[in-house]
Amino acid sequence: MNYSGFKVFWEGITGNKGWTPAWRDPEPKAEYDVIIVGGGGHGLATAHYLAKVHGITNVAVLEKGWIGGGNVGRNTTIIRSNYLLEGNQPFYELSLKLWEGLEQDFNYNAMISQRGIMNLIHSDAQRDAFARRANAMHLSGAGGELLNREQTRAMVPFLDFDNARFPIQGSLIQRRGGTVRHDAVAWGYARGADSRGVDIIQNCEVTGFDIENGLCRGVQTSRGAIKAKKVAVCVAGSSGRVMAKAGMRLPIESHVLQAFVSEGLKPVIPNVITFGAGHFYVSQSDKGGLVFGGDIDGYNSYAQRGNLPVVEDVCEGGMAIMPMIGRARLLRMWGGIMDMSMDGSPFIDQTHVDGLYFNGGWCYGGFKATPASGYCYAHLLATGRPHEVATQFRLDRFMRGGQIDEKGQGAQPNLH
Ligand SMILES: Cc1cc2nc3c(=O)[nH]c(=O)nc-3n(C[C@H](O)[C@H](O)[C@H](O)COP(=O)(O)OP(=O)(O)OC[C@H]3O[C@@H](n4cnc5c(N)ncnc54)[C@H](O)[C@@H]3O)c2cc1C
Repeated sequence: MNYSGFKVFWEGITGNKGWTPAWRDPEPKAEYDVIIVGGGGHGLATAHYLAKVHGITNVAVLEKGWIGGGNVGRNTTIIRSNYLLEGNQPFYELSLKLWEGLEQDFNYNAMISQRGIMNLIHSDAQRDAFARRANAMHLSGAGGELLNREQTRAMVPFLDFDNARFPIQGSLIQRRGGTVRHDAVAWGYARGADSRGVDIIQNCEVTGFDIENGLCRGVQTSRGAIKAKKVAVCVAGSSGRVMAKAGMRLPIESHVLQAFVSEGLKPVIPNVITFGAGHFYVSQSDKGGLVFGGDIDGYNSYAQRGNLPVVEDVCEGGMAIMPMIGRARLLRMWGGIMDMSMDGSPFIDQTHVDGLYFNGGWCYGGFKATPASGYCYAHLLATGRPHEVATQFRLDRFMRGGQIDEKGQGAQPNLH
């Protein structure tokens, strides 16, 4: 079924009886060409592009819970491509371009809103760093402008420009950045993949890999063994646990990251704002809630909830830069498990086991990467070669000294 304005109108006047489920609920087959482990945004996007771009449709996405129950439905929905390093910038720019055409591509309303992202500048050194970043962004066509203090104030007059410790000197703005309704991304990709014949199998946990003589021949699951020519893992925060079943130890730690939403307010924040001195980012959802977050909790965890010290830290960051937020009441908060890599950058690679592939290490930047991650992972699975914008996301990069240390802060998850 194709969604359209006319269809919504027609169903409205005929009692909404013509809608069908957005994807099927099939039983697993005995064998597939490709099994994707993990029905988050990245797994579903990979399935969609495998089917759509490469015509590979004998594919199953195995999800241990329900699709959208992981980080794809828990993030603060920010998309952007304001990266600095050559290993990252073209990849995230491809992702932003794919976001720009995504709703037409998978025929689903993901409420993509390019309201702009503004990174605040609080010191001369930070202005220099952002000028360099803006230049890198221009090289890949991502755009990016430095605004002075008055130009910034004209857009966001409610911020504390004269904060004694962190006065605002200006900002870096990427007008094409913004927000996307996160669970609609999972649902849209699921629908796109399913409509081309991919089986999306929920409540099916992968419990092991069938590896013989260095070749992966399939997976063991809570619903029995399933054979596959290729097995592609993308389980985000569960990466370490799942890949351990294939005997691999990854340069990834699992940490909890929390997000917060206030009660619904009238429109007050026009864009996405990040506080450049502390770690605080905020936008306003279409329902009116202020959606915000900050740092990871800072200890290893597989719990999808966090603790109060970080709640306090995030609220302090918010109050420092935007004192009026203290008047808003907090409605909900939640946590997700982050696959924090050592240099803050991801992996899309083949493993040392033939037929077994790995995608992960997205830290807290993986939502914006969803389209390009799926696109490049599908490319690797279909062709056996990394996509040209993902050549540096290799598992052996720490051995080769090829870290992609975007923040230039060193090799520890809590620094990224
Ligand atoms: C609070 C928070 C805020 C964030 N904010 C942003 C942001 O603003 N912008 C941004 O770009 N990124 C953000 N992120 C990061 C982003 O959400 C993640 O990097 C990205 O969603 C991870 O990829 P995914 O969608 O595939 O993960 P997930 O949705 O977590 O998918 C992985 C799936 O694998 C499944 N799984 C695990 N083990 C197994 C198994 N054994 N068998 C089968 N299935 C299994 C899980 O159930 C899960 O559904 C945020 C994350 C959090 C938690």
